[in-house]
Amino acid sequence: MSPTLDDIRDSYSRVGIEVEGVATYGTYYRLRCGRCAAPLGSVGDRLLPGLVRQIVDEQVELYAHGLLGCKCGYQAERARSLAASRP
Ligand SMILES: [Zn+2]
Repeated sequence: MSPTLDDIRDSYSRVGIEVEGVATYGTYYRLRCGRCAAPLGSVGDRLLPGLVRQIVDEQVELYAHGLLGCKCGYQAERARSLAASRP
């Protein structure tokens, strides 16, 4: 497992999204809701280390308002608790 995939997994897990490794293709990973497993698109693995964390950080507001993420609301819940725990 590459450090980049770890980084992607770690970053998305903070907003309640699971990352599936797609060994066959290797360049994209599927994103799924951490609660109901609905597909939420994909992410490339060519991101620079650390960049995915920055992208997720920038999207936290969008998740919190339900503009991104699953319609079951799991990402919104996670993003709101993330935002609430910020200094
Ligand atoms: Zn869901």
